[in-house]
Amino acid sequence: MTKFSDLGLSAPLLKVLPELNIEQPTKIQQQAIPILLQEKSRDFLGLAQTGTGKTAAFGLPLLEAVDADLKQTQALVLAPTRELGQQIAQQIQAFSKYMKGLRVQVVYGGASIVPQMKALKNTPHIIIATPGRLLDLIKRKSIDLSGIEHVVFDEADEMLNMGFRDDIDDILSYTEGEKSTWLFSATMAPEIKTIVKKYMNNPAEVKIDTSNVVNQNIEHKYFIAKSRDKVEIMKRIIELEPDMRGIVFCRTKRETQELAQQLQNKGLPVDAIHGDL
Ligand code: AMP
Repeated sequence: MTKFSDLGLSAPLLKVLPELNIEQPTKIQQQAIPILLQEKSRDFLGLAQTGTGKTAAFGLPLLEAVDADLKQTQALVLAPTRELGQQIAQQIQAFSKYMKGLRVQVVYGGASIVPQMKALKNTPHIIIATPGRLLDLIKRKSIDLSGIEHVVFDEADEMLNMGFRDDIDDILSYTEGEKSTWLFSATMAPEIKTIVKKYMNNPAEVKIDTSNVVNQNIEHKYFIAKSRDKVEIMKRIIELEPDMRGIVFCRTKRETQELAQQLQNKGLPVDAIHGDL
């Protein structure tokens, strides 16, 4: 059985992982971490879904690659949404517990830019960002790109689905030069192939067979409904099977709270879970 200590990680990370109940590397971690540690200047393509442990697969090698003694931003991590950006930042921050002086900062759209500009003044070593806000901050000269050695795109296919194609192009043109690009995507969509071809140089590739990640016996169904009918329709679906247990995913924290409240008002035993709890 492969252990984290077999993968080449240093003592500060080997110490923190068990504290976070991360005992055994997942498949993507087993395959990606040794490559990213040994060939950190090489481009990398990881095909893996959320839930496979891919944040640690790039986050741990990124922490090893960054020099906390240099007062320079050395890595950018791009995420399609604010929520994912915050999750990545939380994980990387937690991993860096025993790495003295290492600074991580997350910035995202939909929130005031001024506090973010202020936070960037202390030159974080790793910046996690959503694409549009990153470009805004670059244009305002809040981020010095001269020391960037690694640019990571997480959920790149999701970024493209959300219409960030031009932003990705802009970011990659800003950071051109002697840096490595690590790109993670659940799928190898044609547009991902285009980006890989255009911006990546002979990437190392790791593909995780996702058949183990998703249960085989799931049937997918969808219902088209007017937004105002949604809660009533959900109630009827839930009531069809009194023993049903389930999870409803929402896009934002506020939606989880509102939907839980609306279903509770209809007498259903429902509760919300989100990042602030
Ligand atoms: P991710 O796929 O990166 O979104 O990770 C999903 C969750 O799994 C996160 O909460 C991680 O903290 C956790 N995780 C990542 N790697 C491991 C591991 N090797 N063992 C247990 N949990 C892990």
